[in-house]
Parts: sequence; C-alpha cells; structure tokens
Amino acid sequence: MHFKHKSLWLLCFLSGFLFLSGCQGVYFKGETAEKVVALTLDDGPDPVYTPQVLDILERFQVKATFFLIGRQAQVHPELVRAIKDRGQAIGNHSQNHHFYLSWLGPERMRAEVLDTQEVIFQINGEYPRYFRAPLGWVSSELVALCRELKLPIINGSIKAGDVSNPGTDQIVEAVLSRVQNGDIIILHDAGGVEGYRNRRQTLEALPIIIERLKEKGYQFVFLDELIYVPSENR
Ligand SMILES: [Zn+2]
Repeated sequence: MHFKHKSLWLLCFLSGFLFLSGCQGVYFKGETAEKVVALTLDDGPDPVYTPQVLDILERFQVKATFFLIGRQAQVHPELVRAIKDRGQAIGNHSQNHHFYLSWLGPERMRAEVLDTQEVIFQINGEYPRYFRAPLGWVSSELVALCRELKLPIINGSIKAGDVSNPGTDQIVEAVLSRVQNGDIIILHDAGGVEGYRNRRQTLEALPIIIERLKEKGYQFVFLDELIYVPSENR
C-alpha cells in the first residue's frame, strides 16, 4: 500500500512540473534580483500541526502563506482565524483537494474553487487572493477560470518533498541545495494521503530551513511581493 502511494506522489511530483511548462497564468516563482523567498504551507488547517507551524513562524518572525483546503477550514474555523490573527496569509487550495480537479468538468471545478473562497470569507471576512491546485495539476480550463476570478495560480518552484517523510535532513537539503532568489517553497502543515499524515519531520526541518536561509541573507515575503496579484478578486 505504501509503495503504491509513494509511486503516486512521485508521479505527481514529476508531472506537476512537466505538465505546466509554458502554461500562462501559473506562477512558479518571482522574477527578482532581491534575496527573497516565499514560504508556503499546504493542505491545512490541521489541529495538531498548524498551531506549531504558526509558533515557529512567530518565533523567527517569518511571513508565510497557508494554502487551505476548504473542507478542513470548515471543520477548524478557529485555525483559519489564528492564521490571520498571527499575521500570516491565506490561499485557496480547493474545497476537497481532488487530485483531478482540473478535469472534473466546468461546474464542479468552479465549485471547488469558489466554495473555498466563500468558506474562508465567511470565517474571516477576506477572500483568498491566490489559488493552488492539488498536486499542481492545472488544465487550460482551470487557468481560464482562475483568470476570470482574478486568482493567480501559484505552483511553486521548490517542493521540499516533506509530504512523503523522507527524513528531516532530506527536507532541509531539498530546499537549501536549490534555493534561488524569488523561489516559492512548498512545505505541508497537514497530511496528504493515508500513511503520510505525520508532519514531525516538517516541524523539525522548518526552523533549520529558516535559520539557514536567513544566514544566507534571504528574507521571507508574501506572494504579492513576488508576483502581480489583482486587488479585486473574489
Ligand atoms: Zn495539497
């Protein structure tokens, strides 16, 4: 069972990049000469891990963007409020994290995006300003929809691979060996598929990643400091 899941995640990792090369409206990173990166955390909010990640970010005075799954946000609205109250940003990671969201057909695809916009607006009075598709799989139909909704699609440029628990050192290395100006780093503050829900390695890796990047002179910024974000999305 584990092997099957691992293969699936590997496949997703590879195809996420291949599929999108050259795709307009999808951002991998910011174009900048500044030593800045954007840290993003996917799949929450999670009652065990999100509060611990928030504590780490506060301890190191680091900005990050949480890409939330709508149905998780509905179960844990207090965590959505906590993310905002602690000064962090929120993105939309779809309502149900359906792997094939891009190919669900126009109505379900639209609902997957808009339901989460509404869920988060109802909780904290602000619509997310970015969208990230599950696994980064994006069709031209999804690009068109997000353009209509004025929601930039954020894919990211460094997948730290923490979702498959490869070891704390490997997670740290995945980021530090590749980091460049403008990178958008993807970590997870919640579980993915069954068997990969434990984020202990992420919690161990995150302070190390932050400290080493700061030593290298990097600053952590929100996504709208790296890419153009329309102001009147919904
Ligand atoms: Zn995800």
